Amino acid sequence: MGKGSNVQKATAARERNQKKMGKSDEERKAASAKAAKDAAAKKCLLCLQTFMVNVKAPQLLLHITAKHPDLTDYTQCFPELAGYDPNDPKGEKAEAAAKAAAQKKAAKAKKAGGPDLDSLLDAGLKKGKK
Ligand SMILES: [Zn+2]
Repeated sequence: MGKGSNVQKATAARERNQKKMGKSDEERKAASAKAAKDAAAKKCLLCLQTFMVNVKAPQLLLHITAKHPDLTDYTQCFPELAGYDPNDPKGEKAEAAAKAAAQKKAAKAKKAGGPDLDSLLDAGLKKGKK
């Protein structure tokens, strides 16, 4: 065994280790580029402050109220806040309102078809009075 084979062994071992680590230089570069991109995924259009990709709307809103208190149109900072209601951050109120409207509509439809309870009761009361 000459020196050359030892070098080969060492190289092979290094490659094996790198494979064990799971990432090549290229992958590492791509990962860090993605991390950098994610770290600055959202940007305030007014002051250009950047936010993580997973920032939540309330945090963006906090930035607006802290840094741009005069702003009334949130989308001037973050277009993604279009349609966001700070009083209804999860859209629960809007959902409940839509549900109530649907129920009202269903009740109305029920009333329109067939005799409704009120008129039946009315007729019954009139009969009873006779
Ligand atoms: Zn800002």
